[in-house]
Amino acid sequence: MSGQEFFHQGDRVAVLTAQPLDRLLDYRAPEGGCFRGAYVEVPLGPRKVLGVIWGPGGGDFDSAKLRSVMRVLDVAPMRDEMRQFLSKAADYTLTPMSLMLRLATRAPGLSDPPSMRKVLRLGDKEPDRMTPARAKVLAVMEEFGGMSFTPKELADMAGVTPSVIKGLVAQGGLREEETPRDLPYPILDPERPGKELTEDQATAAAALAAGVESGRYGTTLLKGVTGSGKTEVYLEAVAACLRKGRQALVLLPEIALTAEFLKRVEQRFGATPAEWHSGATMTERRRVWRMLGQGNAQLVIGARSALMLPFRDLGLIIVDEEHDSAYKQEEGVLYNARDMAVLRAVMCSAQVVLASATPSLETWSNAEAGKYKRVDLTARFGTAVLPEMRAVDMRSEDLAPSTWISPTLKQAMHQRMERGEQSLLFLNRRGFAPVTICRACGAQVACDNCDARMVEHRFMKRLMCHQCGETKPVPEVCPSCQVEGKMAPVGPGIERLGEEAAALFPEARIAVLSSDLFGSARALKARIEEIAAGEADIILGTQLVAKGHNFPLLTLVGVIDADLGLQGSDLRAGERTFQLMRQVAGRAGRAERPGEALLQTFQPEHPVIRAILTGDEEEFWRAEAAQRREAGVPPFGRMAGIILSGSDLAQVFDLGNALARNDGPLRQVGAQLFGPAPAPIARVRGRHRVRLLVKAAKGVALQEALSRWVQPFRMKGDLRLSIDIDPQNFF
Ligand code: ADP
Ligand code: ZN
Repeated sequence: MSGQEFFHQGDRVAVLTAQPLDRLLDYRAPEGGCFRGAYVEVPLGPRKVLGVIWGPGGGDFDSAKLRSVMRVLDVAPMRDEMRQFLSKAADYTLTPMSLMLRLATRAPGLSDPPSMRKVLRLGDKEPDRMTPARAKVLAVMEEFGGMSFTPKELADMAGVTPSVIKGLVAQGGLREEETPRDLPYPILDPERPGKELTEDQATAAAALAAGVESGRYGTTLLKGVTGSGKTEVYLEAVAACLRKGRQALVLLPEIALTAEFLKRVEQRFGATPAEWHSGATMTERRRVWRMLGQGNAQLVIGARSALMLPFRDLGLIIVDEEHDSAYKQEEGVLYNARDMAVLRAVMCSAQVVLASATPSLETWSNAEAGKYKRVDLTARFGTAVLPEMRAVDMRSEDLAPSTWISPTLKQAMHQRMERGEQSLLFLNRRGFAPVTICRACGAQVACDNCDARMVEHRFMKRLMCHQCGETKPVPEVCPSCQVEGKMAPVGPGIERLGEEAAALFPEARIAVLSSDLFGSARALKARIEEIAAGEADIILGTQLVAKGHNFPLLTLVGVIDADLGLQGSDLRAGERTFQLMRQVAGRAGRAERPGEALLQTFQPEHPVIRAILTGDEEEFWRAEAAQRREAGVPPFGRMAGIILSGSDLAQVFDLGNALARNDGPLRQVGAQLFGPAPAPIARVRGRHRVRLLVKAAKGVALQEALSRWVQPFRMKGDLRLSIDIDPQNFF
């Protein structure tokens, strides 16, 4: 770590810990000294806690009482670039540094001594007696010159029994060695031939590779319809990055579902990369964390939190499906991984590739403004063509009560059945029915703790609150008017649609894909693979199916309620619907057979529905951008959401009003304040929620004004205040 500041034993150092304190703590450097950035263990009261040497000590703490750093951990120190990234990200999201450090150290056992295991290397002696079995073992060692193996690996590779290995060790032909259990990841080979690219793809790949080779920061929007080969193209950028000896990160929104993706990466580079997501085991996480810091992992495929990993030399970040709302963390530290990826890349001179068929308006307009480069893939690969899209005007369809599949859609499904092709019905609503109503008095069953209706989940025979997860049995007697036997489900959920499809097509094999119907991500993944192999005629899915799965036999997509996302006041409602509908429609016709998408709608003339149907994306974005510019909202203005919550509604509103009365720091920068008002979801888990909204012009130093504004307010009792910069959702 040359170049990093060094502290000698006894020097006063400032340590950042992951404890909820809003300051650094002073200690003395340990025996042997330490570099800035070193991960250490320090005493805090009776405990010992993890920390990072942040710089020279501040000096005002009584030096006689100063305690010593206990020890320096055996992991790569935090690099300057990472320190800067964490500080900037903290400033941007108004998050305390202690919380940022917690995000950056989310691997268990960092302070454990490295656990060791036995491996074998080539010894320096010839065995006294050479046998064919021994020769085989030595040949393997020669072939992989310099590498070490566990006894079992070596026996397997040479095809000999363990006793042969033992014999060779005894004779000095093999040498035993202790090595840390967290082994380096297998080397990836960028020189293996990739798929032969089309001209379009090759041009795009060359542009991305040139960025990587420059060794400088840059962001590129890689836009291409689903199936155009974006993945193939950005894997070439990864190859360029590996050739340069730098590390690469691929972020995916639905990390649990990546078996297919990992297989592709393995085919391209000849070995599996590191994985980082909530489903990874503790051991895997620790290995990824440690090996990245040492430069012994070249490529990570990960969920958004992989951005906080201690890369030694990060040269490329791919954000696949960059428009996906899963990149926004909505709990704890509120950050958008897409934006943080750009920040991190600036800090470490890396390239960012934002890949999407339907980019976010933010990214689209950054490309328009020339801040990002843009590369387009216009055609689907091979013979696959984009599906034909048509509206089914529900005003002129004849539907029986409590049914949602129109005769037009039914007929199209029928055709697919006859041809042995698959149909997909899309409805973004989990459960059986969104509302349970009393037919006697009209009361709806609501959650006791939240401002939300309970959703019936028939497979578990209960009602569930989608806000807090609380469940209760479907009542026999109306809780409101006490009349018995009148409770009835209203509206469709994905489970209910499944019953309707089964009644219409009794002979069909029907698969319902909804995240809550599967015990584990693994079970869901297995089911998806079966379906892709043709083991279903009709697939019903929620949002889950919009994401990247390949169903080659699928040629019809029916959107049950295309108007669903257009309701509500969310500023991104139009954009979201546009993206979701295009993604879902993109599931059809990915192989040789052309696809068709039918959108059931009551408002076929709505501008968003029309844009989806005509497929004129640029026109859609231009119109959407014009509207937002007019309104001064993101990405043409800045916004921050402030959510106040607490168990006492009057107290929460008092705080909101006090904040509103004292908005001087906001007015100084010309920002406008709206509220306080009850949040769209006004009660969650028994806590009342009140919202304020801040709007400012684009160039304003908003975070600074926000912290000056809220800083004087103390949170009494169970009151909480959280600030969401660039809010994605307004709940
Ligand atoms: P996207 O990421 O844009 O949805 P993919 O990269 O997944 O597209 O490509 C869609 C399908 O077409 C994949 O099965 C992929 O392997 C295949 N494909 C794309 N480009 C090529 C190519 N040049 N040669 C062979 N197969 C390709
Ligand atoms: Zn609830």
